[in-house]
Amino acid sequence: MNKPRTSAEDFRAAQIATMPRWYSPFAHLTGTLSVGVLAVTIALIMMHHVHWYEFLVAPIAFVFANFFEWWAHKNILHHPRRFLRDLYEKHTPLHHRIYRWGDMAIRDRRELRFVLIPASGVLGIVLSASPVALVLGLIFGANVGWIALMTMALYVIMYEMTHLSYHLPKNHPIHRLPFVDRLAEHHARHHDPTFMGRWNFNVTIPLADFVLGTFVPKKLLAERRKALRERKS
Ligand SMILES: [Zn+2]
Ligand SMILES: [Zn+2]
Repeated sequence: MNKPRTSAEDFRAAQIATMPRWYSPFAHLTGTLSVGVLAVTIALIMMHHVHWYEFLVAPIAFVFANFFEWWAHKNILHHPRRFLRDLYEKHTPLHHRIYRWGDMAIRDRRELRFVLIPASGVLGIVLSASPVALVLGLIFGANVGWIALMTMALYVIMYEMTHLSYHLPKNHPIHRLPFVDRLAEHHARHHDPTFMGRWNFNVTIPLADFVLGTFVPKKLLAERRKALRERKS
């Protein structure tokens, strides 16, 4: 017997049905990654006579990007802001409404539209990181600025790839890689509507969540699991 369709299922079906015909998941993935790869390539070309100590900026830029990811996810993707409303619309009312804790997987390649950031968004992120890299370059030398920009561009690629992997079906080979399942579970808990506004904002590595104490508390997890089980029975 077919399971009765939930309103979440209807919403998902409606989103897929109204997707523009020209949409290509391959072009979306290529476009998104190309922006990051292009930024890395330009940075590599622009670096000259690099000293090892100039690479010390890379872990600092990585941690900065991780805290920025936490902050932007919490404050931009979950709260409508005047000029950034589109980012909110694609995240909270769309991405979160389609994918829930326990039902995270895409069912069709065309659903990449609901998971990946548009290429223009990736470009916006890289461009908004450039002033930080520019200031670092002016203070510590051009190589340091380019290494910082390259690290942040690589971070955006990592964000896209990790997020996509969490939304691939559980039997996909990517889930056999170490840590992928644990990181996917961290993100899946954020997809529970009762947790999304307050917990598990990191998507890549939950460093800022750990430092700022925003892992979903075990007590809340247990209560929520119980409530979901009772609702099913
Ligand atoms: Zn997600
Ligand atoms: Zn979210």
